[in-house]
Amino acid sequence: MSLASLIDRAAGGGRLTYEEGVRLYEEAPLHELGAAAHHRRMTMYPTDDVTYVIDTTINYTNVCNVHCTFCAFFRPERHGEGYTMSHDDVIGRARWAADQGATQIMIQGGVNPDLKLEWFERLFTRVRSELPGVDIHSLSVSEIVGLAHVENITTKAVLERLRAAGLKSLPGAGAEILVERVRKRISARKVKPESWLGVMREAQNLGMPTTATMMFGSIETNAERVAHLDAVRSLQDETGGFTAFIPWYYVPFKTPLKGKEATGLEYLRVLAISRLFLDNVPHLQASWLTPGLKLGQLALFYGCDDMGGTILEERVVHDAGSTNEATRKQLEELVISAGFRPVIRDTYWNLRPQMALATA
Ligand code: SF4
Repeated sequence: MSLASLIDRAAGGGRLTYEEGVRLYEEAPLHELGAAAHHRRMTMYPTDDVTYVIDTTINYTNVCNVHCTFCAFFRPERHGEGYTMSHDDVIGRARWAADQGATQIMIQGGVNPDLKLEWFERLFTRVRSELPGVDIHSLSVSEIVGLAHVENITTKAVLERLRAAGLKSLPGAGAEILVERVRKRISARKVKPESWLGVMREAQNLGMPTTATMMFGSIETNAERVAHLDAVRSLQDETGGFTAFIPWYYVPFKTPLKGKEATGLEYLRVLAISRLFLDNVPHLQASWLTPGLKLGQLALFYGCDDMGGTILEERVVHDAGSTNEATRKQLEELVISAGFRPVIRDTYWNLRPQMALATA
């Protein structure tokens, strides 16, 4: 098939094989790829709406026994700079965010073996009772697996107990690239690709929706990026439990792994191929946190229908060297000046038209 025919088929929603995905990624001119992805997005959502969620990320501990080489946030156990917030501190930060309209909190941190499952159960129970308007979208697969080790129970049992305490959904963090060769180099002690997919499957089968992420730009090849998309698409065929895909690029400035930052063109190419390849994942999110607000705006023409969250507070990516921050007004103005209409949603893509826009 000619490249032009392949682009047309992808723009029309035709499923791409892994080989076709690699070919499109490596050979298609960027603007044609972007136009196809934008066409696909406008066919899926034929409106000018671009959604975003008011949210915050509370990095409750930086103590971690996984030691990923791409991470500048963690401190090993017993390091003088390690911290763990008190429940009161987490609740105080969540309340501050809720007072600013947040409907989602992401409580996420290192894999700290000193924290037992009961610590999270008590925390989530408090959040649920003291801040009933906030959804707990929290804990990465790595943290779930860490808790299963600490308690010597299954990850499914961990998920069931956390769900009973108020956890409603999982963020897609910790996926990086779901290819063993890459993980051995950048996160050798982290869960293997099949474990990440397995915990996501368990959560989704328990009725907890999740997102999926991809951290690209470290050491992986283009083909390994497409293999990651293929793994996500296969699980989505089975469960339908992913709400959104969120590719973001590695920030190398303060990490042991070092390396180079991905270019803007590379970011846009990843977005476009993601929209075209993931024909069964509803939403594609512009991850402005690493590429910045201006590229985040351009992302709306490369397949994205969502601007992600306001992320009122965050440490992991900022510790790696990112300086990007956004107010609600800035996010909305980017959407408006791109010719779209900002719409506030919650974690599960229920629109919240009753919530006033910052630009209103
Ligand atoms: S990325 Fe997460 S799991 Fe890896 S070292 Fe950092 S905090 Fe720990």
